[in-house]
Amino acid sequence: MTPTLTPNRAADRLRRAADEATRLGYEALLLAPSPDLRYLCGYEPMPLERLTMLLLAADREPTMIVPELEAPLAAASPAGGVMTLAPWRDGVDPYALTASLLPRAGRVAVGDRLWATHLLGLQAASPGLSFSPAADVMAGLRAKKDPDELDALRRAGAAADRTFADVIAMSFAGRRELDVAADLADLLVAHGHDRADFTIVASGPNAASPHHEPGERTIAEGELVVLDFGGALDGYFSDTTRTVAVGEVSAEAREVHEVVRRAQAAACDAVRPGAAAQDVDRAARRVIEEAGYGDRFIHRTGHGIGLEVHEPPYVIEGNELVLAPGMTFSVEPGVYLEGRLGVRIEDIVAVTDDGVERLNTSPRELRTVA
Ligand code: ZN
Ligand code: ZN
Ligand code: ZN
Repeated sequence: MTPTLTPNRAADRLRRAADEATRLGYEALLLAPSPDLRYLCGYEPMPLERLTMLLLAADREPTMIVPELEAPLAAASPAGGVMTLAPWRDGVDPYALTASLLPRAGRVAVGDRLWATHLLGLQAASPGLSFSPAADVMAGLRAKKDPDELDALRRAGAAADRTFADVIAMSFAGRRELDVAADLADLLVAHGHDRADFTIVASGPNAASPHHEPGERTIAEGELVVLDFGGALDGYFSDTTRTVAVGEVSAEAREVHEVVRRAQAAACDAVRPGAAAQDVDRAARRVIEEAGYGDRFIHRTGHGIGLEVHEPPYVIEGNELVLAPGMTFSVEPGVYLEGRLGVRIEDIVAVTDDGVERLNTSPRELRTVA
């Protein structure tokens, strides 16, 4: 079932966002077309040179400054009935219009997807205001998923798991990375994704580059291959990684895989309400450091996931954010040996009332493919 944002839920999210902005001392919260806007209104038009902007403030109804020609679309969105539209026609200055709806002075929070050209226009039209990133308002709201969002993420995870089960039944040796990537993309859609968003296939030495772009390289017997893939399902993302062995691989490859598997398990075990995000990173890093590969684990352990593939909270040393039920993020340690091989294992997890729920259940032991 599609988690369509109901007008009631949109109204509730809009109210909570406005309250949070007020609590943090902002006069207003301004959001351009972005996942933030979709989260609050169920409306995400293409960002364009014409200004579309949601304005939330303590003392007014949610207001959307919208090009007149797109006003019917905004009105038809889930939040259409609970916001006031402020349409503007081509030729009118939308920044002056926005400024006329804002106080003369104070702090305003702006979404991080607002184009620089729009922000510069706003700044020029409202010299008494100072602008700050809205991430501190929106990240906390979006981090804790409601039951419908969790359900969508669960279904996306299950569809990614079925994709993995199918792809390892196919042959790898003798085919190009691009061919396996095309299979992954087809399978993601066949298993229910709206679309495939990324399909990393990194073979042999290419696997030492975590975000390798699949290319012409032909996969050979005896290599490890990192498969990192995902897409959106009902707007919510999957993102999973498994590293497979093509036939017999070296003892070193098997050892590195086992270290990463243990690190990933330790990190998942560290996920529970009350723990800090950085505790999860530390749990993974400790295992990899003790095995002697500490300086080859070259990225954070994970990222939040939801309407975006990468969103807060980030699982990294220094993030003291306290984990709470409903938060969803990836746990994806890796070890990368330049010029030789790479291993990464990634699952999406959800913080529950008393621990962790894994949204990916594909086997984590080293799988051998043909
Ligand atoms: Zn990544
Ligand atoms: Zn990934
Ligand atoms: Zn990821």
